[in-house]
Amino acid sequence: MKKTLLSLVSLLLFAVAVTAQDNISALLPMPAKVETREGTKPFDLTRAAVTVNDFSDNGYLAKELEQVVYSRTGVSLGNNKKCNSSIEILFSADKDSEGYTLEVTRKKVVIEASTAAGVFYAIKTLDQLMLGDSRNSAEGKLAQVRIDDAPRFAYRGVMLDPARHFLPVDDVKFFIDQMARYKYNVLQLHLTDDQGWRIEIKSHPKLTGVGAFRAAGGGDNGPDNGYYTQEQLRGLVAYAAERNVEIIPELDIPGHSAAILAAYPQIGCAFRHGTVNAGNIGQVTNMMLCACSEEAYAIYEDIIKEVSEIFPSKRIHLGGDEAAVKDNWAKCDSCLALMKKQGYDNPSQLMIDFFGRMLDIVRRNGKEAVLWCELDNIWPPAHDYLFPYPKDVTLVTWRNALTPKCIELTRNSGHKLIMAPGEHTYLDYPQWKNDLPEYNNWGMPITSLETSYRLDPGYGLPAEEQSHIMGVMATMWAEAIKDINRVNYMFFPRGLAIAEAGWSIMEQRGWESFKERLLPNLTNLMELGVSFRVPFEIYRNR
Ligand SMILES: [Zn+2]
Repeated sequence: MKKTLLSLVSLLLFAVAVTAQDNISALLPMPAKVETREGTKPFDLTRAAVTVNDFSDNGYLAKELEQVVYSRTGVSLGNNKKCNSSIEILFSADKDSEGYTLEVTRKKVVIEASTAAGVFYAIKTLDQLMLGDSRNSAEGKLAQVRIDDAPRFAYRGVMLDPARHFLPVDDVKFFIDQMARYKYNVLQLHLTDDQGWRIEIKSHPKLTGVGAFRAAGGGDNGPDNGYYTQEQLRGLVAYAAERNVEIIPELDIPGHSAAILAAYPQIGCAFRHGTVNAGNIGQVTNMMLCACSEEAYAIYEDIIKEVSEIFPSKRIHLGGDEAAVKDNWAKCDSCLALMKKQGYDNPSQLMIDFFGRMLDIVRRNGKEAVLWCELDNIWPPAHDYLFPYPKDVTLVTWRNALTPKCIELTRNSGHKLIMAPGEHTYLDYPQWKNDLPEYNNWGMPITSLETSYRLDPGYGLPAEEQSHIMGVMATMWAEAIKDINRVNYMFFPRGLAIAEAGWSIMEQRGWESFKERLLPNLTNLMELGVSFRVPFEIYRNR
């Protein structure tokens, strides 16, 4: 008898422990502060209605809240007749711009935020509370909890690469839905590269007329056609904005420019005219714009003006990476003459003149430029920038092993920095031995889910040494990523690890906890039709 009683007691304790954890078991990224209230009675959604909504002018939020509750519980908030409990969405000036409080008590659910973004994120967290607490959700109940949350970093980005393989607009929208679920707020679109020009420029229709079509003889595994019209991009910008995602366009210059050079060969260095044409876009990856081509500056004057009007973001990314200076400027009579005139001893210094003029165009259009950070060596040891970056440029660190140097240099030079260190955030790298990509694998390091998770965007530095870091960016370079299903396979679940690195403070993060919280989220992604990779290696033998 005594033994039976003991078993019963331990069974009850076990049940309480599991129940107590349920409503926080799917929170991802982990909020800054969570207080559960074990042993209290849950809130009853079947008798609830939204009674106060300070954000009622934003129809999207109310719709999103109703949809989230309905999809998890089957309760239709708008049709609740016998409501005796309330859901309140309140404006609170003292919340951070993306922060929120979400409190569930017996009689009320209260969301407080100072912006629509904060309310949106509270709804996404509510969705995960219900996902984790499936037993209560099935009965239309919410366990009591209080969550005070705000992001660690203001910039939480993903870069998609439709230049290498075009992604139709509806596929990008589907991706935005998923990234927003995990509180990413920036989507960088890599719109131009050697392998394609993907944005309509009305003043220069040849850009897409030639550059958006890759012939059978082209590079990166054959034909790939398509581009975004300006109207489609405006629609995409609006769609993203409802979900608190800002779209930043990237036009990669002066390298990665074979697609524009196929349309306008005369803006490359003279000795290389005719190297690339409509039939071989994508094959030649070391072409550059000529630093002395007046026509190149004139065309980009038009391009940047049109691009600035499409995207309301204050930022434009202009690339600046992997410029094959030795194969272009160093052999060009005009470029060498300019180098001599300026008293330079290295043709890379022509970047000062090239970006000096391009950044002036950006500034005249009221924008700020972002560039990939390039150092004077592509592997350690590196000592300085490739060229002195103007003060108003935001840099992105990316090359494997050079991030500590980039953090130090940008801190000393007063530049803002976005963290996309290859060893954690390059999600085109394989996730496991013998996994994809099946081509364009140049010896990529395996970047496992755990490797991605181990990123601390502050690199463990004291607060004052990381205060110039704006946030993180996961990159989905798409040489071998042909469609949205492959994007999702490479992005999920590693993208969720990077999402938590961008949002959650280190004190709230933990690999063991992440693995557990990931499981219900994977189930959910499967139900949504997201073709993630199953991270079998972290669950086997546990
Ligand atoms: Zn030149």
